[in-house]
Amino acid sequence: MCIICIENYDRQKIIHSSCVRLTVIPNIKGLWELDCADCPQLTTIANIEGLQELDCSNCPRLTKIPNIKGLQELYCSNYPLLTTILTIKGLQTLNCSNWPILTAIPHIEGLQTLNCSNCPLLTEIPNIKGLQILDCSDCSLLTTIPIIHGLQELDCSNCPQLTSIPNIEELLLYCHNCKWLKENYIDNIADYNILIKILIKLQRWTRNNLRSRWAQDILDLKNSITKFLYENNFS
Ligand SMILES: [Zn+2]
Repeated sequence: MCIICIENYDRQKIIHSSCVRLTVIPNIKGLWELDCADCPQLTTIANIEGLQELDCSNCPRLTKIPNIKGLQELYCSNYPLLTTILTIKGLQTLNCSNWPILTAIPHIEGLQTLNCSNCPLLTEIPNIKGLQILDCSDCSLLTTIPIIHGLQELDCSNCPQLTSIPNIEELLLYCHNCKWLKENYIDNIADYNILIKILIKLQRWTRNNLRSRWAQDILDLKNSITKFLYENNFS
């Protein structure tokens, strides 16, 4: 235990990553933020009452992530030996990336941000209502992502088996190296979206420049694009 290091904390926030002497973190009253990432000797974190934010990423001797009531943000990436994520009630942000033998993520109600990238045995993403940001890149067994209403950002890069994703047009989407998705959805959608954007610009331009000598050409171009989108059911 690194009493020397730990004695100097202010009681609300402890940023104490990469300490080679830290072995146990006791229940410290009043603490709401704890960063103890990259501590190679750390074996135990107490159930710290009132803690809101915990970063315990990459602590190779930690065998149990504490289930702390009221915790809002949990960063615990890089746990090669752990298999289970606990259902922490009220959790809003979870980063459990790089868990090579994790097979399932629990349904955590109210979760807004989930990073489970590089969990190669993961076969399913739970349908969590209200989830806004999902990073499930490098999960090579994933074949589908559920329709999560309100999802704003999705990174599903390097998921070669993925053949379906939700709400494609509303999403900020990163999907590098997803061959099937790219060929069947993305290229078409991206092209149409560009055309629609051009069309909107042309409509504005023709409205404002009716007397321009280019007006008729632009109008023709606008009509061609409208016709093309209409014929392809994209109007
Ligand atoms: Zn220390």
